[in-house]
Amino acid sequence: MEDKSCPKCGSALSEIITTKSGKRLQRCSTSVWSKETGKTEGCDFVKWLPFEPQTLDEKCPKCGAPLIVTMTRFNKKMKKCSTNSWDPKTKTASGCDYFAWIQATVEELDEDCPKCSSKLVKVETPSGKKMKKCSTSGWDKVNKVATGCDYIEWLQ
Ligand SMILES: [Zn+2]
Ligand SMILES: [Zn+2]
Ligand SMILES: [Zn+2]
Repeated sequence: MEDKSCPKCGSALSEIITTKSGKRLQRCSTSVWSKETGKTEGCDFVKWLPFEPQTLDEKCPKCGAPLIVTMTRFNKKMKKCSTNSWDPKTKTASGCDYFAWIQATVEELDEDCPKCSSKLVKVETPSGKKMKKCSTSGWDKVNKVATGCDYIEWLQ
């Protein structure tokens, strides 16, 4: 049974909101965002809803079953085989064990960097954030420093 009222104050819960990172939540309908104080006023109850697995139009390379997208507790997205399930009682996984982490997607743009005139690329992170950045930018894993042009424009 879905609980439709706030356990703190008994008011109705608001509509389900999806955050930018794909998490879903419901707030208490009495909570209001105050522009003056910059805080939420009223009841502060927030109900987090589980991430809904999405079925992909992609087949498992191991067994041919459809793949699904799930999100870990640490906000990382991965795709895994839909036949895979976890039994919390026996602490064992059953079914096919195929999974792959979803990496950021990079798309080349026909736009020039305002800083250095190289081409820009559009990047979408696994958590759903989008940005435009310079194609010359990179990450030096050895020295742990950013390399190339540092132009970044976050997209809504
Ligand atoms: Zn409430
Ligand atoms: Zn499989
Ligand atoms: Zn640049």
